[in-house]
Amino acid sequence: MSIPTENVGSLPRPMKLQAAIADYDAGKITKADLKIEQDAACKDSIERMEATGSPINSDGEQRASSFATYPLADTLAGTGLADNLAGDGQYFAIFTDGHHRQLPRLTGGPFKYKTYAADYLKEAMQMAHKPLKQAVIAPSMLYLLYPLDGEIEGYTREQFTEDLVNECEKDIRKCFETGAQRVSIDFTEGRLACRNDPNNPWTGRGMLEEFINLNNRVIDRFTAEERKNIGIHTCPGGDCDSTHSADVDYAEMLPSMFKMNAGYFLIQLASEPDKERIYKLLGEHSRADANGVPQVCFVGVINPLNPTVETPEQVRDDLLLASKYIPVERLGSTDDCGFSPFSIDVKPKHGSPDFARDVAFQKIESRVKGTQMASEELGLN
Ligand SMILES: [Zn+2]
Repeated sequence: MSIPTENVGSLPRPMKLQAAIADYDAGKITKADLKIEQDAACKDSIERMEATGSPINSDGEQRASSFATYPLADTLAGTGLADNLAGDGQYFAIFTDGHHRQLPRLTGGPFKYKTYAADYLKEAMQMAHKPLKQAVIAPSMLYLLYPLDGEIEGYTREQFTEDLVNECEKDIRKCFETGAQRVSIDFTEGRLACRNDPNNPWTGRGMLEEFINLNNRVIDRFTAEERKNIGIHTCPGGDCDSTHSADVDYAEMLPSMFKMNAGYFLIQLASEPDKERIYKLLGEHSRADANGVPQVCFVGVINPLNPTVETPEQVRDDLLLASKYIPVERLGSTDDCGFSPFSIDVKPKHGSPDFARDVAFQKIESRVKGTQMASEELGLN
């Protein structure tokens, strides 16, 4: 069996789609008009990803406002916000280039998703010729919708947390029911939780363990057989070609992360300054038995924030080095992050989102080829 390889989820939205989203926010076009552009972008994303030779693909999240807000609003500007939410929530992240991304704020209960990831997947299934994966958001991210201090009148934190866990479980189950081969949970807030940024209060509250326990409340509702195909994605953020927590030492976060009883992990690594040290940490802390499932480490071999395309040989060499520390039967390859987790992203280091799409497919092709080369070198084929 060769080394498995899988993308995280998103691709840059074409310029035409980003313009349509702006027109929709401005009331110039209808939701049906917007859907025409989303359909075209999804079809193009799936067909081009399939053409790279990748064994599993996604729709590039072309319909999602972002990886975190898709259940709550039609667009990042807040058009079509779900019930019991207001636009002015806390900053989820402040990026190193100075820009920030904000979450909505919960104003009352009950908490309910407006859109499930499977709603997008259902449409993607019609366009795909190979297996699809689907990314979903972690409960730990949406936990930040509840005010950091105090309680919402008539809706306790406990009531909210129970509703949140139920909605996240439903989000994952619906993906599998709709035909997803794998479901990965985006957990970018894990590393950020160790940041302690005075400008972003929640990052200084030591919430990592709380996040892990909350996510396990969802993950533990699945059988070991199901959890083989439930993953966790960790990264230091990836928006507008910038990060939010790359300066946090992985050693602070990884031991906690592997306490989650997921079957696989998609781990940013290509952009780490000392990859070998991290491979070693993965080998030490990932578990051969997480309540009945082995934890497979998909190491990042592609940096989506850098327009330079990695060669298949670089990918192969990264995996060969990683295989010295991680058992080969628990080794996989991935991209460091989605290529554009937020719908509105000009990809400044690339020059344009359309060019960044071309680059993304070349990078995915390199990952697929390099992973194949490493598998052959390791005698796995
Ligand atoms: Zn990411």
